[in-house]
Amino acid sequence: MKLLEWASKEVFKTFGIPTQTGKLARNLEEAAEILKEMNYPVVIKAQVPVGGRGKAGGVKLAKTYEEALKKAEEILNLTIKGIKVKKILITEAVDIVKEYYVSVTLDRRHSKAVFITSKEGGVDIEEIARTKPEAIVKRYIDAPLKPYEARELAFSVFEDNKLALKAAGIYQKLSEAYFATDSQLAEINPLVVTSENELVAVDAKIILDDNALFRHPDLLKYKDIDYINPEEEEAKEAGLSYVKLDGNIGCMVNGAGLAMATMDVIKYWGGEPANFLDVGGSSNPEKVKKAMDIILRDPNVKVVFINIFGGITRCDDIAAGLIEAFRTMDIKVPVVVRLTGTNEEEGRRMLAESGLPIKTASTMSEGAKMAVELSRA
Ligand code: GDP
Ligand code: MN
Repeated sequence: MKLLEWASKEVFKTFGIPTQTGKLARNLEEAAEILKEMNYPVVIKAQVPVGGRGKAGGVKLAKTYEEALKKAEEILNLTIKGIKVKKILITEAVDIVKEYYVSVTLDRRHSKAVFITSKEGGVDIEEIARTKPEAIVKRYIDAPLKPYEARELAFSVFEDNKLALKAAGIYQKLSEAYFATDSQLAEINPLVVTSENELVAVDAKIILDDNALFRHPDLLKYKDIDYINPEEEEAKEAGLSYVKLDGNIGCMVNGAGLAMATMDVIKYWGGEPANFLDVGGSSNPEKVKKAMDIILRDPNVKVVFINIFGGITRCDDIAAGLIEAFRTMDIKVPVVVRLTGTNEEEGRRMLAESGLPIKTASTMSEGAKMAVELSRA
């Protein structure tokens, strides 16, 4: 679960990390009320669950009430990386002297948390890694930083002693926040030095581990219904795992591993999956119908590839669900099916006898190739 900037800042504050105080507005009327009470200059920031808002025009400084109101309106009308802005954060602006980068994240390759910091803040860390890898300082950790570790890291990034000591405190608190909330990412980019020689977290980002959310009922209030993908939520309720992607080949697969493999094979043949969809084990026909319904709501989908390796999942159930889907829905795109495993003969016979315009493949690779060709037609 991604926490928006304002929510991430609230969490960071509870750990003692200095950030600006701000207020949320969901429309221009609310923004106008808040702006009347502010000291200027202010910063107005789009609250969307994606980065790079600054470059997209979603972060703006304003010196006066009128200017701020105009910019608030502009930002409320923005769509950033396909996401319509639903709320803005209004904060007092800080006078920035220099921007730094700090984060704690999970490094899967090393099965460890990694603390990352850099004196090149404000830009994407991937960008720094590409252009100035020597400017990145890293340390693998299994627990919050000890004071001496935090100081060592801070002194390798901050030249000024006073600032380095202040930064060390923030490094420690950030690592505490990361572990205490079971996060996958706790990031401050930028952590800035102000003209008063103070450190302030100007941006904040937390990604919580969904599998550990049950341990943090207090954080559930930050779940943002404004930015939830309705299809993904609906799929979750129906017992499906669905993640929308940008391609045009809809995928319906059983098992997360096979779903990943299917996406790989589609890519291998030069296609782009429109989604990840795992119908899970013991798929009843209703689930298949629901899955089809969700896949086809994506207007980019030009073909659907159904790849089933029947174990607990029975191929005849899949066939029955598919036939039912064709009977009740207006399916205009071609459908490629590869069914193998439990009750495959029965499943294939049902599809053949249905007379439906379904193309069958005998292997995953063949099916993926057919789907890729159809996606280009
Ligand atoms: P992002 O683009 O989504 O990462 O949004 P940020 O919150 O990181 O803001 C982008 C950039 O806007 C920062 O790197 C700063 O350079 C600038 N910025 C944000 N807040 C302030 C502020 O209070 N004062 C000043 N002067 N610049 C700011
Ligand atoms: Mn940022």
